[in-house]
Amino acid sequence: KRFDQAGLREILVENVTKAGYKVPTPIQKVSIPVIAGKRDLMACAQTGSGKTAAFLLPILTNILDEPSDLEIGKPLAVVVSPTRELAIQIFNEARKFAYTTYLKISLVYGGTSVKHQNEAINKGCHLLIATPGRLLDFVERTFIMFDNIRYIVLDEADRMLDMGFSESMRKIMHHQTMHPEHQTLMFSATFPEQIQRLAGEFLKDYIFVTI
Ligand code: AMP
Repeated sequence: KRFDQAGLREILVENVTKAGYKVPTPIQKVSIPVIAGKRDLMACAQTGSGKTAAFLLPILTNILDEPSDLEIGKPLAVVVSPTRELAIQIFNEARKFAYTTYLKISLVYGGTSVKHQNEAINKGCHLLIATPGRLLDFVERTFIMFDNIRYIVLDEADRMLDMGFSESMRKIMHHQTMHPEHQTLMFSATFPEQIQRLAGEFLKDYIFVTI
């Protein structure tokens, strides 16, 4: 199977090709149709498996396919990532894929100026990449609201758990502004009991994939 047969937007396939990706990795082959088909997903996949593109490509395709008005502070998709480094990597990959499209992508993480990051969000964003602490901070300040959320990704969920972010994940996922009809995608390298419990709590009717 090739990227141009995966039902992705042509512009995204072009940008993926420009990025030098020739064939989808196993996690991409399995996840892209599941996410494009609007199902929740629990995927066990390691860093290096190509999991970032596995969730970004179908999410960006779906957003391009179903245009909806952007409201300030109300992203359509949020990716929650345990560390600033990983968040930056995801952001850079998303920007590569969205190149020449109208999609707006923002990044927020802790340890830097709130003001600067909030200014970026105030320009509107389709996709937000965030670390859990800063995301929750922005949600509590009402800089970010989940009313328009259609996709939420918890990336490296086991690592977020190890870093003590389980309560933050819960507060995010159960937030009062959370749109009831969002699609949730959880990625984790391992699948211990605690992750199984969170999957049961956050996902509905989900497909389980292990690579
Ligand atoms: P990830 O597991 O998402 O962190 O990706 C690991 C690395 O593989 C990143 O540097 C990606 O740019 C690269 N990558 C992802 N998908 C593919 C693909 N289909 N072909 C070649 N490289 C890829």
